Amino acid sequence: MKIVVLPLLADNYTYLLHTETEAAVVDPADADVVQRELERRSLTLTHMLITHAHHDHVGGVPSLKRHTAAAVVGAPDDRIPGLDHPVREGSVLAFGGASFTALMTPGHGAHDVSYLLQTPDRQDALFCGDTLFVSGCGRLLESDAETMWASLKKLAALPDDTELYCGHEYTEENLEFAVSECPDDPVYQKRLIAVRERLREGLPSVPSNIGLEKKANPFLRCESLVEFADLRKRKDRF
Ligand code: ZN
Ligand code: FE
Repeated sequence: MKIVVLPLLADNYTYLLHTETEAAVVDPADADVVQRELERRSLTLTHMLITHAHHDHVGGVPSLKRHTAAAVVGAPDDRIPGLDHPVREGSVLAFGGASFTALMTPGHGAHDVSYLLQTPDRQDALFCGDTLFVSGCGRLLESDAETMWASLKKLAALPDDTELYCGHEYTEENLEFAVSECPDDPVYQKRLIAVRERLREGLPSVPSNIGLEKKANPFLRCESLVEFADLRKRKDRF
């Protein structure tokens, strides 16, 4: 199973997961970018996995639905265009000898889903949309701090070596915020330098992994809901 990172729009990530012949796409924001990649690699698209219904995550769905036979998978949210397979907590989907397990992780939206890819030939990989970012977390747009806090804790409980693929390239700004909160913390400083280096080389900051995020994500390092809620408010103003 290969995971291809497709940067698109201003700072979104769409992910193409594929075997030799079949592909699934996570959050196809732009149909043209996905189509081009499918053609270049001679792949048939079978699934579109949607983390949440915001336009920068589902923008390419209608066009891909017209041009492919791929099934749209997501939470039962009528804002997701052409939803074929509504999922709930623990729903499992088979794909190319691998499986995706749906984890409900609301907080940013009201119905966010994270997908855990498990396949024999590689590390588990988590696609978590705008719930957990590298060194950050999503804004509380349709829900509250308590809901997001529970979702983040659910993701933090996954094995440390679970790779993390999030919905946006916000890492540098997230780490600048972390450094401003904890100027003396060497973990954030070091991580910021390493991430800037990657970005300068034109590389994405994904994937991270759960173990690294537990050390270098200020939201996962919070020890209480109150601490988390306050930190989230300060980040909104940063
Ligand atoms: Zn969003
Ligand atoms: Fe987004």
